[in-house]
Amino acid sequence: MVLENAFDPGAFRASGHQLVDLLADYLERIGKDDTPVIAWHPPAQAFERWQEAFQPGAGQGAVGPLLETVLAESIHLHHPRYMGHQVSPAAPMATLASLLCDWLNNGMGVYEMGIVGTTMERILIKSVSGVMGFGDTADGFFTSGGTLANFTALLAARSSKAPGKIWEEGAKGPLALMVSEEAHYCVDRAARIMGWGSAGVIKIPVNDQFQMRTELLPEYFEQAKTQGITVVAVVGSACSTSTGAFDDLEAIAAFCQANNLWFHADGAHGAALAFSQKYKNRVRGLALADSVAMDFHKMLHVPAVTTALIFKEGREAYHTFNQRAQYLWAEAEAEEWHNLAKRTFECTKLMMGLKVFTTLQAHGYGFFDETVTRVCDLGLAMAALVNAHPHFELACNPPCNIVCFRYRREGQSKAATNVLNQKIRQALLEEGSFYIVQTQLHGETWLRTTITNPFTSIEDIQNLLNKLEGFANSIELN
Ligand SMILES: *Cc1c(COP(=O)(O)O)cnc(C)c1O
Repeated sequence: MVLENAFDPGAFRASGHQLVDLLADYLERIGKDDTPVIAWHPPAQAFERWQEAFQPGAGQGAVGPLLETVLAESIHLHHPRYMGHQVSPAAPMATLASLLCDWLNNGMGVYEMGIVGTTMERILIKSVSGVMGFGDTADGFFTSGGTLANFTALLAARSSKAPGKIWEEGAKGPLALMVSEEAHYCVDRAARIMGWGSAGVIKIPVNDQFQMRTELLPEYFEQAKTQGITVVAVVGSACSTSTGAFDDLEAIAAFCQANNLWFHADGAHGAALAFSQKYKNRVRGLALADSVAMDFHKMLHVPAVTTALIFKEGREAYHTFNQRAQYLWAEAEAEEWHNLAKRTFECTKLMMGLKVFTTLQAHGYGFFDETVTRVCDLGLAMAALVNAHPHFELACNPPCNIVCFRYRREGQSKAATNVLNQKIRQALLEEGSFYIVQTQLHGETWLRTTITNPFTSIEDIQNLLNKLEGFANSIELN
């Protein structure tokens, strides 16, 4: 009976309708009532609460009450005062595609297990690479997040540029990549996973706007050579996670071209600016990269995780994993776009293409243009408000929707300013009316916001600053 109940169409229909109604009501009211952005619970308390709630027993059938509680107790990305980490509120229509994607459970590793998803993916990659400025030879795929996309790109870089047959024989000597010291930690992690160690990540210092000092590339490159280290790639951040700084992609491309290095652009967050008529100039040079990673779940409202990895020369991706899997493919060596697992790290993989295809089919590229432009405009407007305020200061001039700033008392030491801003952030987290995060820049604490919800207003941002100032005034430092 349990099995029959689990697959009962009537029960599914009832719970499904309930959930959709719940979500539509939520969308109508979120931000208009007094629901906080986050209902903060310390980890131990949350664990205890959910441990108590976990009562599988004989099963309770209906999932409505459970899902309603999860919705109520989760952080609300659709709340206009959510301004924290970079993930964007999911486009409602796209989440319907997510439901279907989960329902179908198509694995996508082999063509037969995902005919529609695989084909959509191909069409989207071609279309999006065109928007980025790539030519006809560009190709790629969707993969599970920017972290994995960057890792996969660096594996391809290694296959392409390392001496010898690395896949069969391993590395002949120490290898390395060069990347700005402000890059996302996953680049560092990727190099270490490949066994390159600390010396395998050559960190290039940044300027006062947190961009890679590309004029230093030759010097660091020569230094590595002297130490017997073979540099295979340079990773440009477009943009970096902490501050939203865009490296000079054209300069990196020229350096890579001159030295036969792979150029990977980590555009997990910022490559989406290519969709904005107003801001696309910030990512000029993107199509000079050998590979580009771009998250659709960061600025583009596609449910997580959905990341495109695009190669300037699509064929390069077939050399990343020179592996045979006879049970999967009749022709292991053939370059078949339709058997995705030949190029992806994953075997079973979500139908990510369906989520993007549905989003674009429903709203068009204009949706991406409008939302990216709007949140970048808001980021710049926030910077102006911070600048005009006597007690707040900016870490740098934000080029997009990521803004780092802090509260500073007259004559206060740096150490005390760090503690004060940590306390302000913690007070806000526990109060919950806004959600922002913090970051460390050159060892100092800064408050960090990502305006990721296009329905955040200037008034919301002004109210955030007022709220933070209120906390600052009530915090005593000893
Ligand atoms: C978010 C981000 C990543 C990691 O992407 P995930 O999708 O979270 O795995 C990598 N690089 C940059 C620059 C990012 O902003």
